[in-house]
Amino acid sequence: MLRAVVANLPDMIYAKDAESRFLLANKAAANNAGTISIANLRGKTDFDFFPHELAAEFFEDERKVLLSGQPQVSKEEYIQEPNGQTRCILTTKVPLFDAAGNTIGIVGIGRNITKLKGVEAELKRARDELAFKADHDSLTSLLNRGAILEMLSRELARSARENGRTTILLGDLDLFKNVNDKFGHPVGDEVLIETASRLVKTVRPYDLVGRFGGEEFLVVLPGCAAPDALARASQLREAIAASPIPTAAGLIPMTISIGVLIAQEWGKPTSEEVLREVDAALYASKAAGRNCCTVAAPPALPLRA
Ligand code: GH3
Ligand code: MG
Ligand code: MG
Repeated sequence: MLRAVVANLPDMIYAKDAESRFLLANKAAANNAGTISIANLRGKTDFDFFPHELAAEFFEDERKVLLSGQPQVSKEEYIQEPNGQTRCILTTKVPLFDAAGNTIGIVGIGRNITKLKGVEAELKRARDELAFKADHDSLTSLLNRGAILEMLSRELARSARENGRTTILLGDLDLFKNVNDKFGHPVGDEVLIETASRLVKTVRPYDLVGRFGGEEFLVVLPGCAAPDALARASQLREAIAASPIPTAAGLIPMTISIGVLIAQEWGKPTSEEVLREVDAALYASKAAGRNCCTVAAPPALPLRA
């Protein structure tokens, strides 16, 4: 009866001697080793069935169990299938004692959890995607408004605490409404996507670019102050103006106007103050004829000591 129960278990069960040679195994264990014959397993080791590196890993695990007398519980083992897929086996190995209490080998059980791992991976992918969507704009994949504002607050606080330098840019595409009106909303979307991509390519890896609104982009440049700030803003402006944007409706020339605020010059401004003043500077760029950058003139006295 016991033989029948063990034989029919869908989980693997096997015993090995102190040299990790199979003493007995059920059908599931034989199948896992890639053989259908249980008799074929007897006396052999994992080196006869698995790639050397993998067999060596199993052997090492079993040595530890044998020498320490401690079980190895729920280890995930990954086995490469011939078709390129990976099988995952959840394995527990415990010492096998004789009547006198000597360790004479190990008993192993294993369960194929490949499907479960697939579900787990799918869940993780879905969770990562949700997390990404929570703080990224779906059209441009830039940080969304909430996220870039959060980053702005954090960066202003850090910069104030460390007497650091931070520059904030607010860019707004020029006469963008014309693109929508002339070519339709989807073409406008293409322009927004390409604009976002050019902005991201132009900044440094640790700079932050967010979609602040429809065709407005907020950029936070940590460690940047005068005299670099205006040059950095000009680079971004030039990245848009330098070449027309390829779209389904053909090449569309586009420019961007930018407001620049060098936080240090404003003492320790709050996010609200920064946004108000950088917006005023942006407005000044529009008033000056667009496709230009304006630095927000700091007040004679700092807003805050
Ligand atoms: P200005 O130079 O003064 O900024 O002119 P403008 O035309 O760019 O400014 P306005 O604010 O009048 O137009 C902004 C337009 O952006 C209006 C709105 O329909 C469009 N817009 C906002 N969000 C999106 C979007 O996600 N996709 C598209 N295609 N258009 C958008
Ligand atoms: Mg605009
Ligand atoms: Mg606008």
